[in-house]
Amino acid sequence: MSDGMAQRERVALEAVRRAARVCRAVQDGWITPESLEKRDKSPVTVADFASQAVVAELLERELPGDALVAEEDAAELRAEDGEEIAAGVVAEVSAVLGRAVEKEQVCAWIDRGATDPIPGDPLAPRAYWTLDPIDGTKGFLRREQYAVALAYLVDGQVELGVLACPGLALEDDGEPGLVVVARRGGGTRFYAESIDGRVLDGRVASAASFADVRFCESVEAAHSDHDLSVIVARELGIVRPPLRMDSQAKYAVLARGDASVYLRLPTRADYREKIWDHAAGALVMTEAGGRVTDVDGRELDFSQGRTLAGNRGVVATGGVDHEAVLAALRGRV
Ligand code: AMP
Ligand code: MG
Repeated sequence: MSDGMAQRERVALEAVRRAARVCRAVQDGWITPESLEKRDKSPVTVADFASQAVVAELLERELPGDALVAEEDAAELRAEDGEEIAAGVVAEVSAVLGRAVEKEQVCAWIDRGATDPIPGDPLAPRAYWTLDPIDGTKGFLRREQYAVALAYLVDGQVELGVLACPGLALEDDGEPGLVVVARRGGGTRFYAESIDGRVLDGRVASAASFADVRFCESVEAAHSDHDLSVIVARELGIVRPPLRMDSQAKYAVLARGDASVYLRLPTRADYREKIWDHAAGALVMTEAGGRVTDVDGRELDFSQGRTLAGNRGVVATGGVDHEAVLAALRGRV
């Protein structure tokens, strides 16, 4: 098993690095003042599909027996009005692979991600990858934070988590482009995306009191209740304004010790978090010494299929009293 995990780690790193290259190329080639003005979603659509295709292609080639649970499927590319997007995706995938590929092949790679690991289904794989090809699509369009998130799960437990965060730098004034890797029981490491050397161990900061604490939340008020987080922060004695950021880059920021609390407070009773939105980030966080639960204090349960069906929201902390944060939420969420 451990040999298999070493190979998986190597493949996962290469996969997210090449997906990050796709994302950067699409940002440069497709996002224009006009596309932003028109709120044109095609740049992120092209990048989403192309990112999933290049990750799936590598997994298929290097680990052909491994199943994949991923956010996208190729139906939109196969649809009659999907021609233009499909042509863009095929061009971006061909550019990164360094050879011309057919649309059908690209669609087949994307559809490798259709695995649905229904709990209790005897045909569901025991182990699988989960991928968010672009987490934080709004951040991608704004050229702020987004992530390519890939995790490997065995029996509902996250064994390996890898994040590419093309907008995060290793140091404050450094070149943006980080890759974060966590192995269960093996810690969290940060690499500069462009260099293959180990650069930094992940370790949460320890805060003397909530007065020093920085907390993170989504930019999007639809994804986390901003009004409630203000109340909870005040109750805890947090005085600094929230650090709002798209994507699982939030987990990376906590794992590096640059913030201590991540609140994801449900805005709708019926929303269930997706496994690809948290699997990699949660392991990055816990392997750096942090804690991750839902708003009720339950462990995140990744054994429930494509969603975290047994959880509500997320609370992640590093170096502060997790129970105090849960207590401040009790009766309010
Ligand atoms: P973030 O960048 O942290 O705001 O999270 C982005 C992710 O939020 C996307 O990948 C979506 O899957 C997810 N999302 C979509 N709708 C909701 C919702 N109502 N509540 C929480 N997360 C959501
Ligand atoms: Mg996402």
